[in-house]
Amino acid sequence: MTTCIGARCPDDALPGERLCWRHQKRFESGGGLPLVSDMVTGDPSGHGRYGLADIDTYGVACHECGERLISVPAHVKKAHGMSIAEYRAKHGLERVSLALPPDGVERRHRRRPCRGCGTPVERNRRWCIPCAEARDATKQPPVPKRRPLTAEEAGLLSTCDPDDLPELVRRLQGDRVPSNAIARVIGMSPSDMSERFPRR
Ligand SMILES: [Zn+2]
Ligand SMILES: [Zn+2]
Ligand SMILES: [Zn+2]
Repeated sequence: MTTCIGARCPDDALPGERLCWRHQKRFESGGGLPLVSDMVTGDPSGHGRYGLADIDTYGVACHECGERLISVPAHVKKAHGMSIAEYRAKHGLERVSLALPPDGVERRHRRRPCRGCGTPVERNRRWCIPCAEARDATKQPPVPKRRPLTAEEAGLLSTCDPDDLPELVRRLQGDRVPSNAIARVIGMSPSDMSERFPRR
């Protein structure tokens, strides 16, 4: 094996070639010969090194933020708005594994990934703290399925012009009032009600 002729490039040249796979690929796709300014394997790249995965017993380090992860793809999407392909290309990680070896994380360090972003979380948690806070912020109290008819609405129903009744009934049904409560006020049997004003 000989080394790539690209300046500073430490990678092996492809068999029978003078360039490493990265430089060869770029050359063949019309990107020209290696430049001194090229990022090469081992150069600082974000929080990591270009072309090198940093995997230890705490997980895989994210090149964007340095966080140790069990799963990189979900994290880079959520935390950095990048696809895994963009992330790999940016940091020269196209050909390295970002997966933990099956027994790569020691049991005492093994934590499960946050369901939102892949960051390892404490044993009894399912979400990391930022994700949990974001979820709490968007969580709204559950809307009750049905609500009682108000006295005012009952009055409207019983004095309503028959021509306007369908519209009023639809509006109340749409506003979570049970059909049988409406039927009771307008003196309709439940079966007539469901025939004339079926819930949509
Ligand atoms: Zn090279
Ligand atoms: Zn990150
Ligand atoms: Zn998270």
